[in-house]
Formats: sequence, structure tokens, C-alpha cells
Amino acid sequence: MAKKGILVVVSGFSGAGKGTIMKNLMSRYGESYGLSVSATTRAPRPGEVDGKDYFFVSKEQFETMISEEKLIEYAKYVDNYYGTPRDFVEKQLEAGKSVILEIEIQGALKVKNKFPDTRLLFVTAPSAEELKNRLVGRGTETQDVIEARLSRAYEESLGIENYDYLVINDDLERCVDHVHSILENECSQRSEE
Ligand code: 5GP
Repeated sequence: MAKKGILVVVSGFSGAGKGTIMKNLMSRYGESYGLSVSATTRAPRPGEVDGKDYFFVSKEQFETMISEEKLIEYAKYVDNYYGTPRDFVEKQLEAGKSVILEIEIQGALKVKNKFPDTRLLFVTAPSAEELKNRLVGRGTETQDVIEARLSRAYEESLGIENYDYLVINDDLERCVDHVHSILENECSQRSEE
């Protein structure tokens, strides 16, 4: 039976570790999924690579992508634009591969609206304190940005009921296996339909 690809959105509070989970998921089970690379106007963090972590673009370039309808969705998050390029997602799905979008909640709801079969996963740290510790500990953001991200986390928590799965990132290995088993299960259900 032909394997059907599904569209999966992974969201989570800043500092919850979704980036790390996604990197591990792709290195262990990468043949099963395509991970969408977003465009953003945010500056790269140390170690981030253009075209791999994000497509780092100017505000003008981003606005051109919007007007040329090159993005499936986009949102503003703490003063920067972020958006999902359409081409990659459409090609993956046509080839029967599942696609993972690691995006925030406004974008997640737009994707769900356009593609109702999308499955939404929300990743969180085990506690609010742990979240703050991780965000401060990674040392990539200024104090102002940390505050803005924490207040955004509170706003996002109000939309959590829109998600299909809540995943607690208390142990990385276990969390990656958990996410993979959720997605495998979803894919096999679709293939049986
Ligand atoms: P960060 O700056 O920490 O990489 O990302 C900030 C937030 O933007 C995260 O919640 C991340 O999931 C979200 N994000 C990343 N790419 C996209 C995108 O293409 N669209 C939307 N709507 N959000 C995104």
C-alpha cells in the first residue's frame, strides 16, 4: 500500500527544546520526514547556517516573498517575520513524504485552516522555571528578548487546546522516540484510509 505523507506542525515555547528534538528526529529517522526550512528576518545566531537552519532574508526580501505568494503562511514573532516556503512543502507531499513545520501558533492555525488534515504537536519543558532556565542558559538572546519570548509563551499557552498532542521534553531521547511514534501512527492511519 502506498505510504501517504502528512503535514505535521511542531510548536512550542521558546526554550522548550523543539529545535534540538527536530535535529535528533531528523538524524535518527530522517528518511521518513522532510523538515521545512523557514525564511526569517531574524539575524542568525552563532552557528546557524543559511539554507539549513533558516533562509535569512531582509525585510524587503520577505515582503516580496509574501506578495509573490511564495509562503504557505507567515507570522510576526517578537519583531521579526517568519514564514514557510511553499515549494518544498508541496513537492514533499506530492512525493508521498511527510513534512514537518517547526512554527509558532499563529502560523500553525493558518496551516491547519488551509490543510485540515494537518496534525499539530506542542512541545513544552517540564515546568515554567525550567523553560526560563533553558532560555537564559543558552545565552543567545538579550534580556529584553528573553522577557518578550516568555510573555509570548504565556500568550501561546492560551491556544494550546488547538493542538492534537502535547509532548513534554523532560528526556531528549524519550521525547524524540515519542514524537516519532506519534507520527508513524498518524501515517499508518492515513495509509489505511
Ligand atoms: P527562533 O527565533 O527561536 O528560531 O523562532 C521563533 C519562533 O518562530 C519559534 O516559535 C518558531 O517555531 C517560529 N517559527 C520558525 N519558523 C517559522 C515559520 O516559518 N512560520 C511561523 N509562523 N513561525 C515560525
